Amino acid sequence: MSEHTLPKTVDPLKYADQNKILEGSLSIKLMPRLVELLVDSNGTVDVKLEFDRDAQNYRVLNGELNAKVTLLCQRCLNPVIKPISSQFALGMVFDDEQAQNLPRAYEPLLVSLDSLVVADVIEEELILSLPMFAYHDNCHNEHAPETESDDFEKGEEKENPFDVLSALKIKD
Ligand SMILES: [Zn+2]
Repeated sequence: MSEHTLPKTVDPLKYADQNKILEGSLSIKLMPRLVELLVDSNGTVDVKLEFDRDAQNYRVLNGELNAKVTLLCQRCLNPVIKPISSQFALGMVFDDEQAQNLPRAYEPLLVSLDSLVVADVIEEELILSLPMFAYHDNCHNEHAPETESDDFEKGEEKENPFDVLSALKIKD
């Protein structure tokens, strides 16, 4: 396995018991739910995932993600590339009851016995890390009329990432 290639699935329990560390990058194109929230699917995410057992013997997954994603500037309605990063600590659980008893330091990660889709975890964490609204750092179009035809149509086509996130949460 090249150090830049992440396995599609891993056995999360075995990886935790063996304190495995995965490092590599993943194309944003491979995360369709994330792409739906972006202006385009260019770019990759740099990934570091450390599987471990903590001092209390909980199986955990500590992760760090860094990516640049293309969002829509809410001021000028043009694409803006934003760095996003995420650090997270997940505690592996098999059911809701275990999730509720998990130490507060961890977010629950529901795992089946032997298979965890690595891209799903990364995608979920990136979606949670997206800013609700994106702006150019020095957006010069603050007062641009919103009815300027090209920009206005682009804005109409793209869903507001925040709206989509709300919908996802309600579904859950
Ligand atoms: Zn702008």
